[in-house]
Amino acid sequence: MPNSPFHVLVIGAGTGGLALAQGLTRAGISVAVYERDRTRRDGLQGYRVGIDADGKRALRELLPADLYETFRATCAERPIYENQMTHRMKFLLTIGPELLPEDERPTDEEHDESVSRMTLRQVLLTGVEDVVHFDKDFTHYEQHDDGRVTAYFADGSSATGDLLVSAEGASSKVRRQYLPQARLVDTGLVGVTGKTPLTEETRALLNEHLFKGVTLAHGPKGAICIYHVMRFKWDADGELKHGIGGTDADAIKDWPGMLYDNTRDYIMWGWATSDWWLPEDVMTLRGKEIQDLVVQMTRDWHPNLRRIFELGDPDSSFPLAIRTSEPVEQWETTNVTLLGDAIHTMTPGRGVGANTALRDARLLTRTLVRAAKDEVPLLGAVREYETTMTKYAWDAVIKSRAQMEGHTAAHKGGVSGALARLGMRTFFRVMDNVTPLKRKIVRADKSFRGTGREED
Ligand SMILES: Cc1cc2nc3c(=O)[nH]c(=O)nc-3n(C[C@H](O)[C@H](O)[C@H](O)COP(=O)(O)OP(=O)(O)OC[C@H]3O[C@@H](n4cnc5c(N)ncnc54)[C@H](O)[C@@H]3O)c2cc1C
Repeated sequence: MPNSPFHVLVIGAGTGGLALAQGLTRAGISVAVYERDRTRRDGLQGYRVGIDADGKRALRELLPADLYETFRATCAERPIYENQMTHRMKFLLTIGPELLPEDERPTDEEHDESVSRMTLRQVLLTGVEDVVHFDKDFTHYEQHDDGRVTAYFADGSSATGDLLVSAEGASSKVRRQYLPQARLVDTGLVGVTGKTPLTEETRALLNEHLFKGVTLAHGPKGAICIYHVMRFKWDADGELKHGIGGTDADAIKDWPGMLYDNTRDYIMWGWATSDWWLPEDVMTLRGKEIQDLVVQMTRDWHPNLRRIFELGDPDSSFPLAIRTSEPVEQWETTNVTLLGDAIHTMTPGRGVGANTALRDARLLTRTLVRAAKDEVPLLGAVREYETTMTKYAWDAVIKSRAQMEGHTAAHKGGVSGALARLGMRTFFRVMDNVTPLKRKIVRADKSFRGTGREED
């Protein structure tokens, strides 16, 4: 961009990096993104991402209007219920749409939507393909006396700009070089995620609440599993399904990202337990091996739930050591900054990692636009971003960890683990029968996920 007052280098074409590239491109600020994956199709190990009010607000602001409509058209049908159940499919708590009074219900814009990670990436790449450079494995950076910064890549190439933004996710090399004090710690939990195609056979395994909801199952030894049925607007051949609205059909009919997306209806599941119960080599297992381990570990579970694991697509399964950042003191601002998991990796406890990365991208775009208009110096804009971002991000990190630690207690063996599990189930059962309590919890959760909040 010839008239851009500065040039931004972004490392990582994931959720946050691409959202930032979209926002800066729209604002006329020069940006280049460097991604380790070799092509647009790579790195698409998919899972579902729930996009909440914060995430949607960011996408609406950063994407061109027609692309935002494409994002919405590619989301799965909205879940109606949030359920907690036992591993024997006994429902402990169900939160339905009727729970909040009409004037307190989230607006259409604020309702959570779910999208496949691979689809979201294709949406975010649309229109910024020419600024994204694939097959660029970042190795390190160097800051120069003239205020510029150079990024170096494994292929021997380099790129120089005025600001370097680390958006390379949890294993960020920029973070390790720039903020060695910002560490990731293991929670001791291991997750395994997978997808089971939605067919007549697998549909028959689900009751209505499971089929139309997001459900957390609580099993023995504190194992948990989240299930969510993802139903999209196109069928197994990639053709639009009958009966979908004309606006949605128009949005996705000619969308180039569809070429690269292989998302079809599926049951998403994410199972987790303490590494204490798992074989030592669990993190090396892949595909069928890791899927078989889940089947073997869930012998006591309801046969329908186990069958879902058995019928999973082995290529979609992978183990994940659940880690979290530890908040650090604010650092001195320079021409290197970070967003998303690179600075605030969080457990999936509250489901806000991607949403927080999107929130960062929106905030950083806003502050850089002010710098581009000379309303604030470039480093002043970065400082403003970092000050606000760290406040909400550390809050999300701490709350996501606390949520998971509730489960960690239940993962323990012996009397204390058994008591924690009993306590949790009793709590859900009681809550299910006390509507005002349910309402309070729904309200608190919606507000944490950005409902009703506009500005950062
Ligand atoms: C199973 C699972 C379910 C989840 N569900 C949710 C959910 O429901 N809601 C939610 O909000 N969050 C969810 N999350 C978290 C969410 O996926 C992450 O928080 C989010 O993707 C972080 O975005 P990011 O842009 O920071 O990093 P990423 O999306 O991880 O992107 C990082 C990019 O950097 C690239 N990269 C890495 N190293 C280099 C390098 N050296 N050089 C160049 N490029 C590099 C990577 O290839 C990648 O493309 C979930 C996570 C998991 C694992």
